[in-house]
Amino acid sequence: MNTPTDEEIGAYIAAAGQAAWEVPDLPQDTPRRDVKTVGIIGAGTMGGGIAMNFATAGFEVKIVDTSQEGLDRGLAVVRGNYQRSSDKGRFPQDEVEARMGRFHGTLAIADLADCDLIIEAVFENMDLKRKIFTELDAVMKPGAILATNTSALNIDEIAAMTKRPEDVIGLHFFSPANVMKLLEIVRAKHTADDVVATCMDLAKTINKIAALVGVCPGFVGNRILFARQIQANKLVYQGVMPWDVDAALNQFGFKMGPFQMSDLAGLDIGWSKGAKTDNPIRDALCELDRRGQKTKAGFYDYDENRRPIPSDVTAGIIKDITGAEPSTMSAEEIIEICIYPMINEAVKILEENKAQRPSDVDVVWLNGYGWPADKGGPMFYGDMVGAQAVLDRMEKLGADDPAFAPAETLRKLAASGGKFTEIDTGGLKV
Ligand code: NAD
Repeated sequence: MNTPTDEEIGAYIAAAGQAAWEVPDLPQDTPRRDVKTVGIIGAGTMGGGIAMNFATAGFEVKIVDTSQEGLDRGLAVVRGNYQRSSDKGRFPQDEVEARMGRFHGTLAIADLADCDLIIEAVFENMDLKRKIFTELDAVMKPGAILATNTSALNIDEIAAMTKRPEDVIGLHFFSPANVMKLLEIVRAKHTADDVVATCMDLAKTINKIAALVGVCPGFVGNRILFARQIQANKLVYQGVMPWDVDAALNQFGFKMGPFQMSDLAGLDIGWSKGAKTDNPIRDALCELDRRGQKTKAGFYDYDENRRPIPSDVTAGIIKDITGAEPSTMSAEEIIEICIYPMINEAVKILEENKAQRPSDVDVVWLNGYGWPADKGGPMFYGDMVGAQAVLDRMEKLGADDPAFAPAETLRKLAASGGKFTEIDTGGLKV
């Protein structure tokens, strides 16, 4: 393992953050669109947090939900967040009122017609998003930027619902959206240059760290996350307990492992009673009302202080469903099995031209997913362990599942002794 100094890692991370702002494909003289008022569709977890970024930066914000109760609930959460910050002395009480004064709630999307930028943050459901973009196309003033906060859906398909796909872009915020620094700006097939340039500028204005990415399932961040999640689930099917997987990733430096994260997010996302999904362990836990931290039980049991405790119930469910005998595996091996596929997936993303440069992948994971700073990001860490070690592991994982076959560029790096952080596949292409 090559171990860089703290100074080298710090310098790499700083340079990566700077580079992410650069979009070489945009002509120097690309104009910007004027954005003064922002419309948010959906006052839920993400919509409220996204709206806060803009109200804090001084924008007028119109926010829509389907019922007055939903709207009131969303705005109460926003007020509560501002109030807590003010109570901690971050800003005076009149600033809470000033920020809340910039919010204008409504139940009709048509009331957003004069907004310069719309960010849609309704449920992750393609039919619903298609319906909303059809309506936006009908009511929005010409030149308005139409953004979606989808986590993984195809933005080209959403844009195709409008007669102005050049105005459509992905603005993928991370939860909690008022806190997390990362903003993935997703350039769709027809997104206009001035829309990209305006959104990159806006990201700076609202104090985010942006990375420009392309359309693919999960974009850069979640696509890499899915690779880790699949491997973590496979380990459980081999009898490795979820808490052992999490402990190994905690040891690597993640504050939360995959199962701790699932419990926090809620196991019932995308689940309904009686459902038989492709994750029967999750289904069985939910049927027992073990839906994560919010029900004080999920993969783990939780005490009054929300401390996670390995659960015999979960272990029993795993044994029943997988038939696997409980087995132990070293933390080192768990780390390789969960982390090296992330590196391989990042290489595939670069090969498909869905990211501008390798360091952007690191910016995404450092700022959106809690990748440990002392390991610089998936690409930087790939250089620490070396391409040959990653290739050896991916050969084994790929033999079991072709979705994890080694990327062609990984093979080339291993053969040439090349570096992940120096992969150059020609930038982003849509
Ligand atoms: P949520 O369930 O908390 O909020 C969705 C809101 O949209 C609800 O208040 C709902 O009433 C409202 N809504 C539904 N249909 C509507 C309509 N027709 N018009 C207006 N409002 C409507 O969901 P969320 O977690 O905020 O997720 C919203 C979007 O953000 C999804 O696309 C999700 O994939 C994405 N996202 C979520 C996260 C996360 O961690 N929660 C992170 C990034 C992106």
